Amino acid sequence: MPSLIKILPDLLVNKIAAGEVVERPASVVKELIENSLDAGASDISVDIEQAGKRLIRVTDNGSGMSKEDARTAFLRHATSKITTEADLETIMTMGFRGEALASIASVSQVRLQSCLQGASSGVVVDIEGGSFRNVSDAAVPTGTSLEIAHLFYNTPARLKFLKSPATEFSHIISSVSHLSLTHPEIRFRLTHNKKMVLDLPAASNLKERVFQIYGAEIAENLISFSGGRDSVVIAGLLSRPAYTRADRTYQDFFVNGRYIKNTSLTHALYSAYSDMLMRDRHPLGFIFLQIDPSLVDVNVHPAKSEVRFRNQSQIHDLVRDVVREGLRGAGVSASVPMRADGVREAIADYVQNAEFGMRNAEFKSDTSSSLFSSSNRFLEADLDNSEFRISHSELLFPLAQIHDSFIIAQSREGMVFIDQHAAHERVLFEKLQDQYGAGEVSGQHLLIPVQVELGTAEREHMAEHLPELDRLGFAVEDYGNGAFMIKTVPSLLEGADPKRLFLDILDELRSQGHSSSMDKLRDDLFSVMACHPAIKVNRHLDRREMEVLIADLFKCRMPHTCPHGRPTIVRFSMDEIKKMFKRM
Ligand code: ADP
Ligand code: MG
Repeated sequence: MPSLIKILPDLLVNKIAAGEVVERPASVVKELIENSLDAGASDISVDIEQAGKRLIRVTDNGSGMSKEDARTAFLRHATSKITTEADLETIMTMGFRGEALASIASVSQVRLQSCLQGASSGVVVDIEGGSFRNVSDAAVPTGTSLEIAHLFYNTPARLKFLKSPATEFSHIISSVSHLSLTHPEIRFRLTHNKKMVLDLPAASNLKERVFQIYGAEIAENLISFSGGRDSVVIAGLLSRPAYTRADRTYQDFFVNGRYIKNTSLTHALYSAYSDMLMRDRHPLGFIFLQIDPSLVDVNVHPAKSEVRFRNQSQIHDLVRDVVREGLRGAGVSASVPMRADGVREAIADYVQNAEFGMRNAEFKSDTSSSLFSSSNRFLEADLDNSEFRISHSELLFPLAQIHDSFIIAQSREGMVFIDQHAAHERVLFEKLQDQYGAGEVSGQHLLIPVQVELGTAEREHMAEHLPELDRLGFAVEDYGNGAFMIKTVPSLLEGADPKRLFLDILDELRSQGHSSSMDKLRDDLFSVMACHPAIKVNRHLDRREMEVLIADLFKCRMPHTCPHGRPTIVRFSMDEIKKMFKRM
């Protein structure tokens, strides 16, 4: 019987590979820009026609290619970036698989023009559906330009799967944006049907680049942060806790200069913000990890959009801790959304640039992926303007309470408003956390236990959580048939109505379902509990009570927001006050 198995011809293999590497026009844009970055370009232009279906052109001023390389570049597994298996462990370039150009060329009509730096003439290569049509010398500018026309012209099925032009082009914008964030020092331009869409001149740091792409509103509400340990450096920009969005659009993670998706990193971001976020609100984060390449596998996805960490959970915890530390470092400004009226200058972000720069030195093995090669370029040297941080309650003198709801206090540099309810919630919340951390939350027996009757749907839910509630200082007994007897409530919550507290906890349990982690559930329950006895608005406080509340608040780890994420303090500097009275 004749053999049935055949080795597929190269052209077909490339087309198959294209199925993975080239999902849509934006994937082509990404691969081409990555090549330009690897070629050391400082200026990259992307021109698109008809959302990339008609034309994608990426032009760079990078190293260029020789005539021979320009031809080899289109062969499968042809790369100048790695040579041995060991190189896979130390990848510092964006590319290494050597299949992008071969794949792209197999499903489009390509024209490459390239000229080496200093060479007298360059080369033009034309390829159609993977077959060479022309390779010739030509006078072309230094660097490389790749034109991809009629993508998927020979794979009608792929063509059909493309979404609307608007959708495809929005993917292109996001590809260019992400890549441009990894290299603020490089000029990027993007045009669509000859109209300029993004024009990003070389920027001096990440924040400036974010400003260029997303505008002032977002840039002004971001704080720089950095930290790390051993062979991992984590740095970037985070939203102030009081500035959140309704979705996750502005959460980008980069590992060794590569934009990636990773659910564990996203989770770490949320855990860092945990008790500062209101429900259904999302923080912003542009988070860069620079990690010893041998500790992360970038070769797990054909489009290189995922990575696998050798030690996933350690990286998760480190990101969470560094982000949290960064938020803490942001001081009082964290709680005050910036207004675009110059107050921004007054409240400066805090960043430990010196330490960051030092750690970078270890990763300078290749300058082409030089995100971290010059720390000052990446993160601006923000002032450590401690004048504007209130770390000591002694610096705050309560002057009055207005409408029995807000405290007015004088601070060293101006005055602050404190939301008494939010502040007290924060205090109770952290006290509950502390007691829990030290063993268990101390409970106080009710003189007369309170009975609550629950419907069928809710009983089981509650019954299931009784042991955990017990550890939270809340002893509830199941009397059967939906009857529950509340016997103990956390002593800190003395004065709260046990029944309403119980029902709120039930609501919280129901809304969380089984989806959340125990840690998150516990904190959420604490924040529900803290709300109950917390000093309400419309409650008169005397001077002494105000002093105690302020002192307690500033003993907290996160004094600037309540556990639901609302600000506890709003501040006005003397400069601002003077400005309001036109004295400045
Ligand atoms: P990879 O990037 O994984 O090496 P590609 O198929 O994307 O594979 O590119 C193949 C090779 O072509 C690269 O290794 C590089 O040497 C060369 N090349 C591609 N694009 C450029 C460019 N814009 N400038 C200079 N060389 C390039
Ligand atoms: Mg490549």
